[in-house]
Amino acid sequence: MPFPAEKGLHAGRRAGTFAHHMIVAPKIRGFICTTAHPQGCARHVAEQIAVVKNRGPIVGGPKKVLVIGSSTGYGLASRIAAAFGSQAATLGVFFERPGTQDRTATAGWYNTAAFEAEARAAGLYARSINGDAYSHEIKAQVIEAIKADLGQVDCVIYSLASPRRIHPVTGQTFTSVLKPVGEPFTNKNLNTGNGEVREVTIAPASEEDIAQTITVMGGEDWEMWIEALSNAGVLAGGTRTVAYSYIGPELTWPIYKDGTIGRAKADLERAQKALDAKLSPINGKAWISVNKALVTQASSAIPVVPLYISLLYKVMKARGSHEDCIEQMDRLFRDRFRNPDPDEAGRIRLDDWEMDPEVQTTVQRHWEDVTTENFPALSDFEGYQTSFLRLFGFGLDGVDYTAETNPEVGIPSLG
Ligand code: NAD
Repeated sequence: MPFPAEKGLHAGRRAGTFAHHMIVAPKIRGFICTTAHPQGCARHVAEQIAVVKNRGPIVGGPKKVLVIGSSTGYGLASRIAAAFGSQAATLGVFFERPGTQDRTATAGWYNTAAFEAEARAAGLYARSINGDAYSHEIKAQVIEAIKADLGQVDCVIYSLASPRRIHPVTGQTFTSVLKPVGEPFTNKNLNTGNGEVREVTIAPASEEDIAQTITVMGGEDWEMWIEALSNAGVLAGGTRTVAYSYIGPELTWPIYKDGTIGRAKADLERAQKALDAKLSPINGKAWISVNKALVTQASSAIPVVPLYISLLYKVMKARGSHEDCIEQMDRLFRDRFRNPDPDEAGRIRLDDWEMDPEVQTTVQRHWEDVTTENFPALSDFEGYQTSFLRLFGFGLDGVDYTAETNPEVGIPSLG
């Protein structure tokens, strides 16, 4: 058996079978980490649960919640806030890879394994479905699960972030891109690997790029979900559905709000209005929640945004107004469901503290001044990197990263 030592792998007998254990370290490739730590992800989930529990029970929140994109980032935080704040039964949908003998699972897999274990220990229903949320098949599986276990749901969170979508009707594969629209965009950009700040020019998207990005990240799939759930009779009276968006400051607009992703988010807002009308007979309501810029697997891939986030974190932490995904989603479930306080376009604004004029004035000034040399002083690069590693379960307190661990961890409801 013994595997080559350099693979950091060896086999040992566990309960009569060979369980393979390995030391798991981060392996960063560009803007992703290709490994994840099972116990670290579990700690990360436990810390998020503690944030919600420390704020006490959420009164009047939803009780049966479907979260589409529930394994990482804003979707995972939504699931945790619903379950541990509002004592909700949760059904989660995601696309994650389990671990094998010699390869770790994706972080979302370990997050979900830990979430389900904690939910069950707290006496909360939790079931998960792993597969392509864009497909008819996964929608049908979710409807079957709701019928069998919950009857109906009263809240549907839509939190997908994906680079591609296979269209369920045509079978065509669409790819989303992060590009400006119309003109090339030149601005400062951070190399998150080495802390260098350099100018970058991003060529504008083609019409085809724009159309494909809208198909992947726009509102059509959200509408398909609500249509399918509604037709199956599994939406309770008063159901709320919420999809997440971002606006941000003007300096990021060419790449975000006015770029290809922004076009897709505009389409999400179109869908919100259509869904609002569709849900009104059952007193339901569709919302767009504009959330804060945060380090997630999805946001790490956007040019220019990681530099903005590094500068933003510094300012918001100094003011004591910094939040991570869990504090944002706790605020959504705890406060905004009762008092949405919508903006002129009818959106929930959880980016209110980010967009505070004092915060933005300082960030803008730092943006103009920032160079590779003064970047460590002007930014919270350490916070950026720490947050990034935590997404994959690295750098958490109470985890022995020198110990060997079994990469094969089961999600209870997936058998
Ligand atoms: P994320 O990458 O952490 O999460 C994406 C989720 O989608 C994961 O659970 C993943 O498994 C799931 N997923 C992706 N493709 C799937 C598929 N085909 N089938 C099933 N599940 C699939 O991303 P995030 O940053 O939490 O983004 C979630 C939403 O929040 C997005 O709409 C994003 O635009 C929005 N948002 C993000 C930020 C930010 O700064 N990160 C800010 C505001 C809004």
